[in-house]
Amino acid sequence: MLIVMKAAATDEQVRAVCEKVERLGLRAHPMPGATRTAIGITGNKSDIETGTFDEMLGVQEVIHVSKAYKLVSREVKDENTVVRFPAVDASIGGSEVAVIAGPCAIESREQAFAAAERVARAGAKFFRGGAYKPRTSPYAFQGLGEEGLRIMAEIRDQFRLAIVTEAVDNESLELVDRYADMIQIGARNMQNFSLLKRAGHSRKPVLLKRGMSATLDEFLMAAEYIMSEGNYNVILCERGVRTFADHTRNTLDLSVVPAVQRLSHLPIIVDPSHGTGKRNKVTPLSRAAVAVGADGLIIEVHPDPDKALSDGTQSLYPDQFDQLMHEVRQIAAVVGRHVAGPVTQPAEPAAATAR
Ligand code: PEP
Ligand code: MN
Repeated sequence: MLIVMKAAATDEQVRAVCEKVERLGLRAHPMPGATRTAIGITGNKSDIETGTFDEMLGVQEVIHVSKAYKLVSREVKDENTVVRFPAVDASIGGSEVAVIAGPCAIESREQAFAAAERVARAGAKFFRGGAYKPRTSPYAFQGLGEEGLRIMAEIRDQFRLAIVTEAVDNESLELVDRYADMIQIGARNMQNFSLLKRAGHSRKPVLLKRGMSATLDEFLMAAEYIMSEGNYNVILCERGVRTFADHTRNTLDLSVVPAVQRLSHLPIIVDPSHGTGKRNKVTPLSRAAVAVGADGLIIEVHPDPDKALSDGTQSLYPDQFDQLMHEVRQIAAVVGRHVAGPVTQPAEPAAATAR
């Protein structure tokens, strides 16, 4: 159920409604909008008597939400969610197309710094890199763990980049939450419900990747798990799904972008690196992703892809990433968006983010 407050409703009236919801043993999710606040209610097993709230001060309307996903849905919040990263002057879901770039895995301080220097210079405001890698083989490189997180924390300070890195279980999430600016939940964990709930307790934004065989409904329900625990800063990511096509690693489903945007207010970005698995297809699909309306891109870039310990074949050379940025800037302009320009001056170290 959803309670829509009047435009003139006071904070106190919003609070009174939330308190009443909680007294009924339910959970209130106030969602402030540009003109009015809506309060989503979760936790009810059956319909709530609308009269309970109809007569309260400041209440405009009580609506039954028909979708299985509620907080994710545009029925609850019509305006696009914009997730802000003030320390790096970036946002995801607004008019800027956000670019997250960096190696698949953090392999060493030298490798990570070399990648960070180039992606920051090219205009990316977010740095990616796995410290915990979910690998198909138990014998493959599994990541540097906390040491990798420490390297990324240094990169944030030196290059003024927001850090995005994956948590693979509750234990690593604890650490990622402490070091990173955004917590990535990988495709293989999209339906790890206990991990989603734990991410819902964090105050950091969550980048949720689509499972490799997840339907749109399953994808949105996974986001609902995070939001139902009180974390409303969720960014969806299309990273390719498994099909019979074998000319690419996965089939990048760009049609999911407008499909998500129709149903949900959450931002959606695209990962053409895992989506194609082939370096030569990353830039064309990045152009297409921006054209289709994606709110951002996540791109694997390695200073020496041929020596990469994971996903080398899909990682761009830094010069190729420069070219990608140049091309997506032009596409973004056509659809009324923009991509940050290249940086000529080295960044001032960012102020430490609240942790
Ligand atoms: C990654 O981003 O490096 C990754 C493992 O992605 P996915 O979960 O989409 O496979
Ligand atoms: Mn990878």
